[in-house]
Amino acid sequence: MTCIFCGIADGSIKSQLIYEDEHVVAFKDLNPQAPTHLLIIPRKHIARLCEADEKDAALLGHILLVAKKLAQQFDLKDFRLVTNNGKGAGQSVDHLHFHMMAGRRFLWPAG
Ligand code: 5GP
Ligand code: ZN
Repeated sequence: MTCIFCGIADGSIKSQLIYEDEHVVAFKDLNPQAPTHLLIIPRKHIARLCEADEKDAALLGHILLVAKKLAQQFDLKDFRLVTNNGKGAGQSVDHLHFHMMAGRRFLWPAG
């Protein structure tokens, strides 16, 4: 199985990473839906949130703290962090990712 986000995480697919550490990478979305639209992903291939388990607890927590770090780095006071779990929710890439979006008003409830 080829996974585009695994390729971005391991460097085999070229992408300008804006953050990386041992467990997580972040990069700009190819098709941004807000002035700032970042994707935060684990290096580990997890297809979607519901495929994560207890062993991934620290990793999932770490992703949230990376989001906080990016908010500080990009000086974002207001942002939306969202993951789409499953096709019906809008998931198009089967590798867990969190959209971090900022720079415009967001509707609630989300559309
Ligand atoms: P989903 O619809 O699965 O929640 O989000 C997938 C996101 O990945 C979309 O916003 C899409 O624009 C982005 N995307 C898909 N392929 C690539 C790619 O090759 N590079 C980058 N940077 N973003 C991608
Ligand atoms: Zn993957």
